[in-house]
Amino acid sequence: MPAVFIGHGSPGNALENNAWTAAWHGIAARMPKPKAILAISAHWFTRGTAVTAMTRPRTIHDFHGFPPKMYELEYPAPGSPELAREVAELLAPERVFLDEAEWGLDHGSWAVLIHMYPEADIPVVQLSLNGLQNWEHHFALAKRLAPLRDRGVLILASGQIVHNLRMTNLRLGHQGYDWAVRFEEAVTQTMTTDPASVLSLVSHPDYPLASPTPEHFLPLVYLASLVEQDETVEAFLRTCSFGSSSLSSYAVGVPAKT
Ligand code: ZN
Repeated sequence: MPAVFIGHGSPGNALENNAWTAAWHGIAARMPKPKAILAISAHWFTRGTAVTAMTRPRTIHDFHGFPPKMYELEYPAPGSPELAREVAELLAPERVFLDEAEWGLDHGSWAVLIHMYPEADIPVVQLSLNGLQNWEHHFALAKRLAPLRDRGVLILASGQIVHNLRMTNLRLGHQGYDWAVRFEEAVTQTMTTDPASVLSLVSHPDYPLASPTPEHFLPLVYLASLVEQDETVEAFLRTCSFGSSSLSSYAVGVPAKT
């Protein structure tokens, strides 16, 4: 099964049909239908590691200031307590909290999935990002998820490689600041030639501006770690926007375009 990293952008993309959402839809259309989805979203950054283990995860509207329609959107995909337990077993000896009531699907997951799999008929489980751990720990942890790919589970990492909200300039449209464009190019170069060296990007001179906080970059580390030696990463969407944002997205294991 493929694994993907999606640059999710604004939650408002859930209601849009634009070049970004078309790319998400397009990549899903090229993949076999997954048996289940393990979503790793920038928006579930926790103390410790947790996995959603409820049968009916709620749609979390974790954003402010959007039109009422956004808060009415639901992504009613079922959960999978079985997959949650499997994830906990694979990650051992990491302690994984089986969350039966607290979280659900945040917009990092559902605002993307609503375009990839609008029918919401595939079970989805979310894995949190442990904010107490370092980069190397995350890279190693992600590797333990690899067997899920052989079991038909799509691993969907959702974040953003350039995500500096304080420097957003909407007037710039589909343009990035020089440092954003440079960092996007560095990430794409690394992901498509040597994903195992993903952690070197954290010391790139443009990293501090591209990622003032780690949680949106961290999901990319999960994808990079899951790439097998004989596989090549495809950059299926490359873009910078609003100066300080990039929704560039990467996939591995997707059959070539026909
Ligand atoms: Zn986000």
